This record gives sequence, C-alpha cells and structure tokens, in this order.
Amino acid sequence: IAEMSLPLETISHEFIKQLIPKRQRNSHKGVYGKASIIAGSFGMTGAAILCGKSALRSGVGLLKLIIPESLHTIITTSVPEAVTVPLAETRKGVFGINQVEKLVQTCDAADVIAIGPGCGQNAEMNEILRHLITLVDKPVIIDADGLNTLAKHVDVLENKLNKVVLTPHPGEMSRLTNLPLEVINQHPIRTASEFAHKWQVIVVLKGARTVVALPSGQIYINVNGNPGMATAGSGDVLTGIITSLVAQGLTPENAAIAGVYIHGYSGDLMVSQKGEYGLIAGDLIEGITHVFRNLE
Ligand code: AMP
Ligand code: MG
Repeated sequence: IAEMSLPLETISHEFIKQLIPKRQRNSHKGVYGKASIIAGSFGMTGAAILCGKSALRSGVGLLKLIIPESLHTIITTSVPEAVTVPLAETRKGVFGINQVEKLVQTCDAADVIAIGPGCGQNAEMNEILRHLITLVDKPVIIDADGLNTLAKHVDVLENKLNKVVLTPHPGEMSRLTNLPLEVINQHPIRTASEFAHKWQVIVVLKGARTVVALPSGQIYINVNGNPGMATAGSGDVLTGIITSLVAQGLTPENAAIAGVYIHGYSGDLMVSQKGEYGLIAGDLIEGITHVFRNLE
C-alpha cells in the first residue's frame, strides 16, 4: 500500500484536550484508577523509577511497582507514593522462577498492567509475558525488554484476551517484525500499520515523528517533541504516561495517542529551560506537571 492512501491524522492540542478527563471535586484515589508496572532489574533500577514517577505525575490514583526484590529499598525510597511488590530474582537480578502466580495475584485489582522498562530478558520473563497476554483480561502496555521478550514468540498475540499497546523504538520494531532497521526507518507508517492490522494491537512506533497505528487502520502522527528527548529513559517516561491514562479510563487507543502528545509537549516545554543537550528523562516528568496544567 502506498503511504499516502492510509487514513492519516496529525495529533492536535484540541483533540487531546477533550480526551483528558476532568478531576471531579467529589472524588477519591479509587476514581483515578489502579496501575501495575512490572519493571526494573539489577543495573536498570532507574527505568522502573522513571516509569513509576511518570505514571504518578500523569494522574493515576494508585500505583504498584512490581520489581526484583533487591531493588526494593531504592525503589521505595525514590518513589514513596507507590506500593511495591518485590518478587524473587535470579542471581543476575532479573525476575526469578515461579513468580507468575504471585505476580498475577498482585495485579488482580489493577485496571492496566505495563511490562518491560529495564526488566532484562530471561525464561521467567517469557512466562510472565505469555501469561499476561493470554490469561489476564485487562489492557497490557508492553515496552522495552517486554518487546524484546515478545519478539521471540510474537504469535502469542494470536491468543490475546484484551487490548495490547506496544511502544517500540525502531530497533525493537525491527526485532518484532524481523525486518531490517533500514526498512523500518524508511517506511515507519507502513510497518506500524501492517503490524497493528495483522496482530490487532495498538502500535506506537517511536521516533522524531511517532506513529500511532490502530488495529482499525487509523493512523495518528505526533509532530511535537525535539531532539533533546533522544536521551536514556525517555521512553520509560512515555510508558508511564500511557499506563496512567488507561488507568484513568481512556481507551488504550486514546491513551496511546494522548500519551505521545503529552510526552512530546513536555519535552518542548522543558527544552526551553534545559536546552537540547541538557534535557534528561527526569526533566520530562517535571514537564508533565506543566502539560496537564495547560490541558485542564
Ligand atoms: P526510547 O528509545 O525507548 O527511550 O524512547 C525515546 C523517546 O524519545 C520516544 O518517545 C521518542 O519518540 C522520543 N524521541 C527520541 N528522539 C526524538 C527526536 N529527535 N524528536 C522527538 N522525539 C524524540
Ligand atoms: Mg525504551
């Protein structure tokens, strides 16, 4: 298919503004949803922290961070607002064997589950991901090592129970599709939309112009953001935003579209203070607070 014939839409401020639910005066934290984020491993603790803080700053009512147990002290110190669920781990500090049951139990009340930032890859990750996709009936956001794990057996998506959002950068997209990186970079819209259609998932193909491809065939392009955002941890912040929005009741489709817009908007607000060289992922989390004030 020629790229021009696809139903393309640019994400606009007005569209996002009407998607964001107003905070109700007479409300409590339960109203704003429960998110569970499975993230982190020894040496990649920061991914879990960035993703968790980002979800909180985006408005989720209750957050659980599910992490390998040796990270527990640093995580709870860095993100005191989150409930932490430490799981047994391997000697390498990645989730250990037989953790699926406990993990699934702890996600029982969650409205949405995210998996991947800084998780590492191993056999238990394969099991956890397979279980989440095929046996847990709630939206799942898959990023980073969750995507690298998925790439080893993409066909588990055939038996998915609910909405799945994938947030690959081009390298992860290349592993998912088995296409060379050059093809992804030359045809980002086509590769995202073909994958979204084939597996009936929401694909957020990240880049300077992020593409959100929906299973329906509809495609959204995000045009804000800047090269300052090409920095470690930037994607972990995006995953936190999208997860938080699903918890607050947006459809996974709308959460993906609004998430990339809010993330880029945050980058644009913060780059005016920090510059493109100085901008780091933590700044994007601060930027989220300003973005939501402009969307109220
Ligand atoms: P990740 O590679 O997972 O850390 O994700 C990087 C994030 O930064 C994605 O959301 C990208 O869309 C964003 N990003 C990276 N480079 C740029 C750029 N040059 N312009 C705008 N956004 C960017
Ligand atoms: Mg990433």
